[in-house]
Amino acid sequence: MRLSGPNSISIAQSIFLSKHPLGTRIRFAEYGNILVKEQAIDTGLACVFVAPNSYTGEDTVEISCHGSRLILEMVVNEAIRLGARSAAPGEFTRRAYMNGRLDLIQAEAVVDLIQASSEKGVTEAYNLAGGRLSQEILQLKESLVKVLAYIEVGLDFSDEDIDPISRQQIAQQLDDTLKQAQQLVDTFEVGRRRMQGYMVALVGQPNVGKSTLLNNLLGEERAIVTDIPGTTRDLVEGRTVWGGHSIRLIDTAGIRESTDPIEFEGIKRARKMAEEADLTLFVIDATQLNFDSEINFLRKLDPEKTIVVLNKIDQCKHLEKSVFCNIPVVVEISALTGFGRADLIDTALSILPHSASSEGVVLTRQRHVECLNSMIINARNALKLLQAGEPDECIAVELQEAHRHLGALLGEDVGEDLLDSIFSDFCIGK
Ligand code: GDP
Repeated sequence: MRLSGPNSISIAQSIFLSKHPLGTRIRFAEYGNILVKEQAIDTGLACVFVAPNSYTGEDTVEISCHGSRLILEMVVNEAIRLGARSAAPGEFTRRAYMNGRLDLIQAEAVVDLIQASSEKGVTEAYNLAGGRLSQEILQLKESLVKVLAYIEVGLDFSDEDIDPISRQQIAQQLDDTLKQAQQLVDTFEVGRRRMQGYMVALVGQPNVGKSTLLNNLLGEERAIVTDIPGTTRDLVEGRTVWGGHSIRLIDTAGIRESTDPIEFEGIKRARKMAEEADLTLFVIDATQLNFDSEINFLRKLDPEKTIVVLNKIDQCKHLEKSVFCNIPVVVEISALTGFGRADLIDTALSILPHSASSEGVVLTRQRHVECLNSMIINARNALKLLQAGEPDECIAVELQEAHRHLGALLGEDVGEDLLDSIFSDFCIGK
C-alpha cells in the first residue's frame, strides 16, 4: 500500500508499529506490526520517502504486508478511516508530474511501459520515461529561444540601426531547427508500430487456409475454421510476438468477387487492410491447378510488403513453381501441420520496417506528432516572413507560438481536460 501527501507519515505511524518509528530513519525498510484499530493483524515492512525525494515529490510511505486481499483491504480501510482517500487512476504519476518530478512525455511513457506488449515496446517506453525524447524537445526549444532572442534584439535596437546577426544566419538556424523537428516527426511510423505492434494482414481467396494459418501463428483457436467458402466475413484479429516485436495478425474475408452484401463489405475491407498493413501474407492454396486469379490480384499488392504463402504444401503432389518466378518472396507452408512456420516468421521479420532509426528516439504518440506539426507550421511561417523581409514583430509572434507548442508537448500550461484523458489510461496505484 502506498500513501502520498503531507499526512502520509502520520497516518502510516498509526498503522505501522516498528522499533524505530516511521519517519525517524529515511529510506530504511522498517520491520514491524501492522495495526488496524490499534490491533496487530499482520507483520510487514514499511519505507518512508521524504519530500521532495520520492516518486510523487511528496512525503510517501510504502507498506508491504502479506498479499491477502482481505488484509490489504483492511489496511486500506484503516488508512481511509485515519484520513487518507483512495487514489484516482494514475494519481501518483499525475502528482509526480504536477510536482515537476516528471514532464508529460515521461508520465505518458509510464503508461506505455505498463501497457507494452513486447520487449521492444518496453525498451522504447523505458527510453521515453528516462527522458530521451524530452531532452530532444528541450534542445529544439532552446534553438527556438536563440532565434527568438536574435529577432528580439533586432526589435529592441531597431532605432539604433544595430544588426547584431544577419537575417540569413537567423534563417539558417531556424531552418536547421525545422529539419530536426521534421526528423522527429518522421520517426512516428516506426515508433507507433513498435508500441502498438506491426499490422500483418492475411489475405487470399476463400478456403485457402487463412483462418487455419492465423490459429497456427497465434497458437489458439481464434478464427473459425470451416471448409465452406466465405465464412470469415469480418476481420479477426490476434496479437503475438515475433523476435521481440509486437505483431497484430488480422484475418480478412476472402477476396473473391461476391454479390452477398455482407461478404462484399468484408472483401472491401480486406483490400483496404492489405493497403494499410505493414505486411500482407497473401495465402494461396498450393493444391489448386490454376493460379490466374491469384496472379491477377497480386498485381494490385505492393510487392515490397507482400509475402506469397503457398499453403497446404502437405497435400501438394506437384507445384508449378515457375508461375511464381516473378514474385520476390514466396514461402511454402502447411498451416495444418506447422511445416514452414518458422521460415515464414523469419521472412516476415526480415521484411518488416524496423531497422530505420532503431537506436534513436522515436515518437510513439499522436499527441506528440500533433504538437510538433503545429510547431513546424509556425516555425515555417516565421522562416517565410524572415526571408520575405517582413517586420520582426510578426516573426516573433510566430516563433512564440512555435515555442508554446513545444512547451505543450512537455506538459507546460496544458489544460485539465488533456491531463484527465492522459491519466485516465492508467490503472489505480500507478
Ligand atoms: P480460409 O477460408 O482461407 O480461412 O480457410 P480455412 O482456414 O477455413 O481452411 C479451409 C480448409 O482448408 C479447412 O478444411 C482446413 O482444415 C484446410 N486447410 C487449411 N490449411 C491446410 C493445410 O496446410 N493443409 C491441409 N491439408 N489442409 C488445410
